[in-house]
Amino acid sequence: METLWSDFLNSEWHDWRGSGRSEDRLEKPAWQERLLSDWQLTAPVPMPAEETLAMRDFRERLHALTVKLAKGGSMDEADWQLLNEQLALDAVSRRLSGEPGAVRLELVPVTEDWRHVRAEIAASFGETLLHGETARIRVCDNPDCRWFFYDDTRNRTKKYCDDKMCGNLMKVRRFRARKKADPPNPKG
Ligand SMILES: [Zn+2]
Repeated sequence: METLWSDFLNSEWHDWRGSGRSEDRLEKPAWQERLLSDWQLTAPVPMPAEETLAMRDFRERLHALTVKLAKGGSMDEADWQLLNEQLALDAVSRRLSGEPGAVRLELVPVTEDWRHVRAEIAASFGETLLHGETARIRVCDNPDCRWFFYDDTRNRTKKYCDDKMCGNLMKVRRFRARKKADPPNPKG
């Protein structure tokens, strides 16, 4: 399942096929546009330089927290602070719309910028902690891939970001490693 926080973390892309290639997409305007449009957010593109620094710093810390939780760790004081800091920097107001019987109450950002995006990312992580299960936070088991995702399968056994891609690749690798480990048949 795609979440805003995992989408954000996955801006650090690694070639899952094992070429060793990686790419930081955070600074790419096309990636920024895509993220904003997918999550219905608004912020200036290209991302201003000081915002890039703040986004990068937040990503690094959220990355460490996510890896810790994926390994079975739990939230500590500093982790809550990391999320709360981002939430505290954002201001939202409330807006009513619609008509009686179909009234909507929305939270509207006071300023539409990357600070607000960071707060939304922190809130999305909070949603996972609130309504999801920490034990379902995953890092793809393919060491070359390291894609973050939320395992929403019923039996919670999803190991790879994509079974057809990373799952198959790892199956082939295991098969080859087994073949190599088997001693050659002296008669054959
Ligand atoms: Zn993967």
